[in-house]
Amino acid sequence: MTRQPGIEVFDGHVHVGTWRTPDFLGHGSTVSETAAILRRAGIREALVMPTDRGDNDETLRAIREEGDPGWRFAAWVNPEDQDLPGFLQREAASIAALKFHPSFHRRPLRDPAFRPFLEWAAEQGIPCVVHCGRWQEVAGWTIALEVAASLPRMPMVLAHMGGDSPALVAGVVETLRQRDLSWVSLGTESIREPWLIAHAVQRLGASRLVFGSDHNLNEPRSFLAVIESLDLSDQDRRAILGANARLLFTRSVRRS
Ligand SMILES: [Zn+2]
Repeated sequence: MTRQPGIEVFDGHVHVGTWRTPDFLGHGSTVSETAAILRRAGIREALVMPTDRGDNDETLRAIREEGDPGWRFAAWVNPEDQDLPGFLQREAASIAALKFHPSFHRRPLRDPAFRPFLEWAAEQGIPCVVHCGRWQEVAGWTIALEVAASLPRMPMVLAHMGGDSPALVAGVVETLRQRDLSWVSLGTESIREPWLIAHAVQRLGASRLVFGSDHNLNEPRSFLAVIESLDLSDQDRRAILGANARLLFTRSVRRS
């Protein structure tokens, strides 16, 4: 069953593997379990990344073996991972994006430890997906935009639309409207309020929004339903649900 007849959905934010943080109670999923849940939601294309374990090598190997052909891969940036620079060099052709999570690594995005990876993404011309949350000193959207302004050629997606609360989303939407940061988009993962997404579409345009579910933490159909409930033109709906993500995450996983 597909909930979006005639629209090919690209989920811009999917995790595979098991979470380390006690907050998520040891929850996890394998690549084949994830593929089954996405297919049940009618989703064949996705940007798939590790959990907070940051096990890029294992995740990419599992995607090669069991992932859907439409999946792209995002590498998790743990600045303390000694193997990361070598992994990025080896697998560059299969890396569609880098994922940054300031909260889990307890460093703001402007921390010098993140900088070489941001610059690598800019050189490669691939996007950075940045977790934004309520912990303003570390994961605030203002910090992400400060870094985005310093790397004007690098596409950046602010996850959770800048922070998963209406006040934070409204703030980033107005700032993006006023400033010339056309390379910054907002990911809709975990946003439950249709009216908040409608506000962003009205103020910024649908071209700046990228649908995401944050599976394996969330059920993708719940978040598809939020987009489905919006009164959008067919073109705007297609942009948010897939076309924008396809323009951003262009590198597919090489099978060899
Ligand atoms: Zn996530």
